[in-house]
Formats: sequence, C-alpha cells, structure tokens
Amino acid sequence: DSFSESGLADEVLECCKAFDKPSPIQAHSWPFLLDGRDLIGIAATGSGKTLAFGIPAIRHVLHKRKSSASKKVSPRCLVLSPTRELAQQIADVLCDAGKPSGVRSICIYGGTSKGPQISTLKAGVDIVIGTPGRLKDLIEMGVCRLNEVSFVVLDEADRMLDMGFEPEVRSILSQTCSVRQMVMFSATWPPAVHQLAQEFMDPNPVKV
Ligand code: AMP
Repeated sequence: DSFSESGLADEVLECCKAFDKPSPIQAHSWPFLLDGRDLIGIAATGSGKTLAFGIPAIRHVLHKRKSSASKKVSPRCLVLSPTRELAQQIADVLCDAGKPSGVRSICIYGGTSKGPQISTLKAGVDIVIGTPGRLKDLIEMGVCRLNEVSFVVLDEADRMLDMGFEPEVRSILSQTCSVRQMVMFSATWPPAVHQLAQEFMDPNPVKV
C-alpha cells in the first residue's frame, strides 16, 4: 500500500513522486509482476494501469541489462496497443518514467513516415510501444527485432482483436522470446481474447 513496500529502486519510482500511494491496480499487480508472473487485468483507462505494467517493464529492462554481457541495446519489452493515440499516451508515460534510469522507449505507429522510427530503432531502444500494423511492417523489413523481448504487454486486447489485428498480434508475439512474461489488459473477456491468453500465456496467470 505504499511505494516503499514495493522494494523498487528510487530511480524507478521517481515518476510516482507526485502520487500519495500506488493505485489499487498498481498495488495488486506489482508484487506478481515483479515476481515474474503472467497477469491478466480487467481495468479501465484512468485506473493507473499504464504504470501498473510500466514500472515492472522498466525494472525488467534494468534487470536484463545487469545480467547481459553485451552492451548492445535491444528491445526487451514490447507493448501492443490498438490505436496510435493510446500508443502515444503509453509512450509518453514510459519515456518519462524511464528517464531517471536511462530506459529508452519508442512509439511505433502507421500513417506517418517510417524514417524517424527506423533511425530511433537503429540507435537502440529498450521498450517498443506500438500498433500492430506498422510494427509488423518494420519487423518484416528487418529493422525491428523482437528476439530479445521477454516482457510483453497487450493493452486493450479486446479492442485490438475487434479491430481485426489478430493475425498481426499472433505473428508479432511469435517473434518474441519463447520464455517471456506476459501481461494482458482488456475491458471485456470475449472468447477470442480468452483463446489468445490460453495460447500465449502461462496456464495459470494472475487475475486482477
Ligand atoms: P492510466 O490509467 O494509466 O491512463 O492513468 C490515469 C491517470 O492516473 C494518469 O494521469 C496518471 O498520471 C495517474 N496516476 C497513475 N498512478 C497514480 C497513482 N498511484 N496515484 C494517483 N494518480 C496516478
């Protein structure tokens, strides 16, 4: 119920300085996510869900950095979002939250030129936040490699499938590490979302 109880480093919690205490979704998710569990969250926007998965994502990057011999920066976390606006909102929060610890995020979406996204990817990023269509393009072009991604978030999974992104989502997920931690947020729980969770997540995810 307090930030200090989370055991997270100060630099990771810097972005929460303005808040009194973790929001309920954060207080419920962090212990499980920091313990490496898969998690399904039924939560609406406004609940503080971005930092519920964002803080563990940043910690995951820092943890991987420590245990990796290579100095090369490659994406360790991926956040899939149905729309450009949502992706941008998440990216704004994560860019800010990652600043004190030097964790770099990029936002990838369609309807704009690929050039700047490609240069940022080439310069090295830790967290990729994107919409499925453009992300799949950049993967196919070979400029976005997800083989070291071991923390994956599907935000608004129900909406993403409603919008017809299921083939892209499946293809993108199959490019990530087979040993990965996965978080899924959805406002509703239709059969298609359930099926995706069964196929790609741990058989016993935590539900919050
Ligand atoms: P989200 O649901 O992630 O879109 O967050 C909604 C709003 O809640 C954002 O403006 C956040 O800055 C704010 N927020 C996130 N975590 C907390 C917290 N622990 N206490 C108060 N506000 C928060």
